[in-house]
Amino acid sequence: MAELESIKGIGPKLKIHLESIGIHDCFELLRRFPSRYEEFHIVPFAEAPDQTRVTLIATVINHPKVQYIRKNLSKVTFDVTADGHPLKVTIFNRPYIKNILSPKVTIVMTGSLDRLKHTFTATTLKLKVNFNNEIQPIYNVDKISDQRFQKLIREALTTYGYLLKDELPKQLREKYRLIDIYTLIEYAHHPSTNQELRQVTRRLKYEELFKFQFRMQYMRLKNKRKKVKEKAYHLDKIKAFIDTLPYELTPGQKQTTNEIIKDIKSPFVMNRLLQGDVGSGKTVVAAISIVAVLYADMQVALMAPTEILAKQHYQTFRQFFASLPFDVYLLHGKLKNKERTAILDEIRSDVPCLVVGTHALFSEDVLYHNLGYVITDEQHRFGVKQREKLRRKGITPDVLYMSATPIPRTLAISIYGDMDISTIKGKPKSRKPVETTLFKESNLDLVYKLMAEELNEGHQLYVVTPLIVESDTLQVKNAQHVYKRLSDYFKTYSVGLLHSKVDDDAKLEVMQLFYHQKIDILVSTTVIEVGVDVPNATMMIIMNAERFGLSQLHQLRGRVGRGDLKGYCLLIYDEASGNPERLNILEQTNNGFIISEEDLKTRGPGEFFGSKQSGVLAFKHADVLEDRDILSLARDDALTILKDKSTYTNSAYQPLYQYLKKTLKKGTFD
Ligand code: ADP
Ligand code: MG
Repeated sequence: MAELESIKGIGPKLKIHLESIGIHDCFELLRRFPSRYEEFHIVPFAEAPDQTRVTLIATVINHPKVQYIRKNLSKVTFDVTADGHPLKVTIFNRPYIKNILSPKVTIVMTGSLDRLKHTFTATTLKLKVNFNNEIQPIYNVDKISDQRFQKLIREALTTYGYLLKDELPKQLREKYRLIDIYTLIEYAHHPSTNQELRQVTRRLKYEELFKFQFRMQYMRLKNKRKKVKEKAYHLDKIKAFIDTLPYELTPGQKQTTNEIIKDIKSPFVMNRLLQGDVGSGKTVVAAISIVAVLYADMQVALMAPTEILAKQHYQTFRQFFASLPFDVYLLHGKLKNKERTAILDEIRSDVPCLVVGTHALFSEDVLYHNLGYVITDEQHRFGVKQREKLRRKGITPDVLYMSATPIPRTLAISIYGDMDISTIKGKPKSRKPVETTLFKESNLDLVYKLMAEELNEGHQLYVVTPLIVESDTLQVKNAQHVYKRLSDYFKTYSVGLLHSKVDDDAKLEVMQLFYHQKIDILVSTTVIEVGVDVPNATMMIIMNAERFGLSQLHQLRGRVGRGDLKGYCLLIYDEASGNPERLNILEQTNNGFIISEEDLKTRGPGEFFGSKQSGVLAFKHADVLEDRDILSLARDDALTILKDKSTYTNSAYQPLYQYLKKTLKKGTFD
C-alpha cells in the first residue's frame, strides 16, 4: 500500500536510498517535513538593504559570460537593471545559467547588494515565470535536491492524499483550532504565507507532544493493570521501625512514604519516581518502604550506579536495620568466589533480605527466591531490558526510582510520563541554608582566610576540583596540584586526596579517615558528589566552578551544613574562561527545583539528562521547557481519551490507536 515505487520519479535505486533515511512508504514521505524555510520576499530596489540577504526583481541586459577559475569553481557574470538601476551580477558555480538567460528576460535573484560598487552577488536565481513561492521549504535530505524532493511529495500527495488519515482526533483539533492533516501537508510543503507556517508549527508541536503523552500514558495505565503478588505488610511493624529513628519525619517525608507504601500494598505493580531536593531525606523514605516489603516476606534489591555508592548504601542500611530481623548483603565485583556463593545461596533461600549492589544485581547467576521490590538510582534508569530479563525469570517487582536532581513537578509529570511521581516537599527543620559566595580566582587569598577561620573552629572542609572532560589525566593532575598547594599552605592541618586513579579500597579508606576527623581538608574530584554524610564538614570550596552544571554544584554544596553547624559554599571561578552570571543563581537560592530548571534552560535537555535519556526528550518540533504548557495539556487530553472506553471502538479515534499499535510494535521508546 502506498509503495514508494508506485509514484512517478521513484525507481529501485531511489527507493533504497529513501528507505535508508527512514522513508518506507508514501505516507512517511509526506510526513518528512522541511527542516526550515527560506523566504524570498521581493523588495523594491529603493528599499533594498545594503550588504545583507535580499531578493530583487531585475531585467537581464546582456548575454552572461562564464569564467572557469579553477577546478570546481566557475563564475557567471552579466548586467541587469533593477527598477532602472544598472547592476553587475555575479553567481558562482552555476555555468548552465548562461544557456537560460538572455537579454530582456526578467529574473528574481536573491543575494547581497553592494550599492557603492553597483554589484549584486547572487546565491539563488530564478526566471520570473518560475517564481511562484516566496517561501521555500529546505529539506536537507541527503543526496536529493529540494526541488526534486518537493516534486516527489507533490506526486505522493496527488496519488495518495485522499487516503491520509488524521491521527489527531477531530475533537482535539477543534478544541485547539488546529489544521487537519491534509491542510498540514499542503501548508508545510507549499506554504504561501507566514500565517500558514505558524499554523503548521502549532499543529506539529501539539501533535508531537500529544503522541508522546499518549504512548507514555498508555504504558503507565497498562503497567498499572499488571497484577503483582500482594504484599501483606504489617502497619504496626512499620510504625515500630519509624519509632526507632532519631528524628520525626517531615510532612513531606510522611506524605511520600504513604504514597509509596500504599502502592506496595496494592495488587498492581508500582512504577514510581521519588524526588526531592538534596538533603530532603529520601534515604529514610526508601528505607521505610523496604522494611514494609521485608515484613511482607519478600526480598528487596537496591541498585546503585557505582560500587562506591553501593558500599555506602550498604553501610547506611545496615545501620538502619540494626535492630530488625533482616540481613543486608552487598553484591559487588570484588567478592571472593566463596563469599559470592554464600550470598547467592542466601538470595536463593526463602529468608527475606535486602541486597545492595550495582547492575550486577541482575546477572544471570543471581536467582532471587522472591524478589518483590527494586529500588534504583536515577543514573541507572531501570531499563526495559532489565525489566524484561526479570519478567522472563517470572518476576514483576514494584520499582522505585530515586532522583538526585529534582525538577519541578509539572515538568516531571510530563517528562517521566510513564511513572507516578512522589515529591518530597521541604527539608528537615534543623537544616539551615548553605551560604554561598562567588570568588574570582585572583581573590584566592581571601578564600584561604575563610578556610583558616573554619579550620580554627575545628570544622572540616571539602575542596572539589573540576571534571575536565578532555583529559582524565589533567583532572588528576589538577587535583594533585591543589592538594600540594593546600598541604603547603595549611601545614598544621591534615589534607587528603581523592581522584579517579585512586582505587576503590583506598578511596573508602580516605573517606573513613575524613569521617573520623583524621583528615581536615579533603581535596577531591567529583567522586564525593554521591552521598557522603559528614556532619562536621562545614565548608565546600569548588575550584573552576564555571566548569560545572548548576545542579551538580547544588548537589555538591548539599554535602555541607548537614548537622547542626552552618554550612558555607565558596565558588571560585576563572574570570578568563567562565560565564559567572550563570552561577549567580546559586548565591540567590537554595531551592534545587529552581536551580535544576535554570540548568535545564541553559544546557538543554540532552546534556541535562545525559545522553541515555535524552532520546526521550529529543522532540523535533517542540521544546520541553518552552512548550511545557502544551505538554501538560497534551497529557490531560491523552488521559481523557485513554480512560474513555468508548474511544476504543469509535471510528474517529481509530487512526490514533493504529498509530499507537504501530509504535509499540516498533518499541522505539522506553
Ligand atoms: P537526600 O534526600 O539528599 O538523599 P538524605 O536521605 O541523605 O538526603 O538525608 C540527609 C540527612 O538528613 C541525613 O543525615 C539524614 O539522617 C537527615 N534526616 C533525614 N530525615 C530527617 C528528619 N526528618 N529530621 C532530621 N534529619 C533528617
Ligand atoms: Mg541521597
